[in-house]
Amino acid sequence: MHAQLEILLEMQDLRSQRAALAEQDLGRVESELFDIEPDEAVLRIDEKLGELEDRLDTGVRNRYDRLKGARDRMVVPVVGGICYGCFMAVPTAWASDIERNEGLDVCDNCGCFLYHLD
Ligand SMILES: [Zn+2]
Repeated sequence: MHAQLEILLEMQDLRSQRAALAEQDLGRVESELFDIEPDEAVLRIDEKLGELEDRLDTGVRNRYDRLKGARDRMVVPVVGGICYGCFMAVPTAWASDIERNEGLDVCDNCGCFLYHLD
């Protein structure tokens, strides 16, 4: 898999983890049950996200910055030749590429980073 795509997927995972932490009303739960304070957990995630952002190439970073304000997910799967960010077909050359995920493809329609599934 493309190294930048790996980073992007890891970042997306961290972002959804962060969103899940923020959504849970952890204040209602006795905090002594946790090994780490939820607020601190969010800070750790932000730190890690910052480290990963620094590893992105400039062009990728710029696109990521644009997408992250507008979308929950910026890396979306391509299933059966369809981009799951916008549900439009992607060029068939990509959909059938034997070296899938070795490059960093971007959807022409919605601008999301793509990763290819069977
Ligand atoms: Zn798309």
